[in-house]
Amino acid sequence: MKILTSAFFISALLLIISCEKTPEPSIEKQMKVEMAITLDDLPVSNLVSVEQMVSALNRHQVPTPYGFVTGSYIYKDGADSTRKQAILDYWLQQGFLLGNHGFNHLAIKRYNSPNDAWRNVQMNERALQQIDRYRQQQNDRVYRYTYLDEGFNTEIGNTFRHHLVTQGYKIAHVSINPADWVWAEKYQACRKQNNEEAMALLKDQFINYTLEVIKSRQEAAQMLLQREIKHILLLHANEFMGEVLEPLLAALSQSGVKFVSLDEAMSDPLYQQYQQQTLPKQSDILNKQALMTRQYNFSTPTQPQLPTNFAELCT
Ligand SMILES: [Zn+2]
Repeated sequence: MKILTSAFFISALLLIISCEKTPEPSIEKQMKVEMAITLDDLPVSNLVSVEQMVSALNRHQVPTPYGFVTGSYIYKDGADSTRKQAILDYWLQQGFLLGNHGFNHLAIKRYNSPNDAWRNVQMNERALQQIDRYRQQQNDRVYRYTYLDEGFNTEIGNTFRHHLVTQGYKIAHVSINPADWVWAEKYQACRKQNNEEAMALLKDQFINYTLEVIKSRQEAAQMLLQREIKHILLLHANEFMGEVLEPLLAALSQSGVKFVSLDEAMSDPLYQQYQQQTLPKQSDILNKQALMTRQYNFSTPTQPQLPTNFAELCT
């Protein structure tokens, strides 16, 4: 009887211990990534998409998300520029910020001179100045290179960069680039076919793909710098993003991502180090860093591949 009682007591004790044990955090939860969210190529023509993106960013309390404006898009679809300006104004009304992405979405190699490239930034600035709330914006000027191409060590690239820096622009580098525009094009193709099943699949796959890219960039930072960096995620404003941003931010949050402002992310020494000089490669800052530190033989973890069925989907 005594043995039985003891056995019962021990089992009960074990049960209590096991109940009190807190669940193991998942591996993803241990990511502890700090990340700023940036959306290029504003304004889009579709107000609904902007409302969807704004709602997702607000719901997940992303601190001061940045939108980078391509001024020519304000005037792109005919004369309805007022509506596009209202879209940008609505963005600023949220307490979000706008940066400069050049008036024409041209790669730096398309310009004939540094002055041509610089005029493109000034034109964009004038387009932004048409918006009341932008004029009242007190934040720093921030520039995002088109195609992430800085014109490395060319006369145009270096002089253009000098203009940017001396005129007070900070360079918004990117550390995580899930190439969402590729997904957005495919999503549009599926929408044209009313293939809702494929659209849902694409959204799920894009979220998983982005999580994979984050892991690969964390590994790259460890290999190159032996530390974590603050990350800057590059996304694009479009219909696809309108529909995928909410579940994407939810998945990031669940995986341990802490959203920070672009200002906070850019305080990381890696971005500070590369404000003045141009960097090679149309890629994220970690790939650029690998080349700058002459680790040419250094193989940063490659970005994950697109799903095998991607090419055939909605053709
Ligand atoms: Zn762009």
